[in-house]
Amino acid sequence: VRLALFDNYRLGLVSGDEIADVTEAVPAHDPHWPWPFMPRVIAEFDALRPAIERAAARAQPRPLSQVRLLPPIPQPGKIVAAAANYHMHHQEMGGGTLQGEVFLKAPSSLVGQGGVVRLPNLPDRKLEHEVELAVVVGREARNLSEASAMSCVFGYTGLMDLTVRGVGDRSRRKSYDGFTPMGPWIVTADEVPDPHNLRLRLWNSGELRQDGNTSDLVDSIPVLLAYASSVMTLQPGDILATGTPAGVGPLQGGDTLVIDIERIGRLEVSVLAADPGAPVAEPNRLRAAAT
Ligand code: MN
Repeated sequence: VRLALFDNYRLGLVSGDEIADVTEAVPAHDPHWPWPFMPRVIAEFDALRPAIERAAARAQPRPLSQVRLLPPIPQPGKIVAAAANYHMHHQEMGGGTLQGEVFLKAPSSLVGQGGVVRLPNLPDRKLEHEVELAVVVGREARNLSEASAMSCVFGYTGLMDLTVRGVGDRSRRKSYDGFTPMGPWIVTADEVPDPHNLRLRLWNSGELRQDGNTSDLVDSIPVLLAYASSVMTLQPGDILATGTPAGVGPLQGGDTLVIDIERIGRLEVSVLAADPGAPVAEPNRLRAAAT
């Protein structure tokens, strides 16, 4: 199934171009404190699924165009992301030793379908887009083996890992507000029989910039999950971004970014130029050293 969050943190089941409100199937929905809601839906999904499907059958579906989709997990505990995890992208970034490394992006950088990304005020810095398949963790997991790692996968969604290139800490360069568009919804793992054979594309203002396939991943999803869970306990609702294929390119105000991932869906955001009056969001000493 396809699970979405929409409007005032309602839970929706998406079918075709329509969405059915199934919020009533989950007890204790609280729109005033919505953050734990989706992790709970995910953790308890097997038990909740019959009630969710009954609610969907009773609901009057609405066209997707009439609702506002939110990031399907608005505040995951963490966003773990793979660095340089497609062979051709590794080459375009200069090659060298593949580290097989992961880093963290701030959950506060998320925006959803139709969202707006206001660029930070960083004169002279190169800002770029990356399209990525994101894995949604379904249960608590620590020290997963590669053989068992896929058992912790709840589903998949689309993600853009927006990035400031160059010097400085990677987690900071990828964590500006708006730098992680995610969605449009979660597709449960049963609908994605082979996540290692999905075409993923990104267009900037109508021009195709990235066109790859998850078959080109350097480290597969179970390898990434095993490694990440050896460092930090994974929790329901955590996100693993699996890296980007070749074709990363520049961002500027006025751009429209669209990604499409096979079996997952299409996610679009618009990019606004930086406010020149905003503080320069970078360490002073780093800027001084760069000039
Ligand atoms: Mn990335």
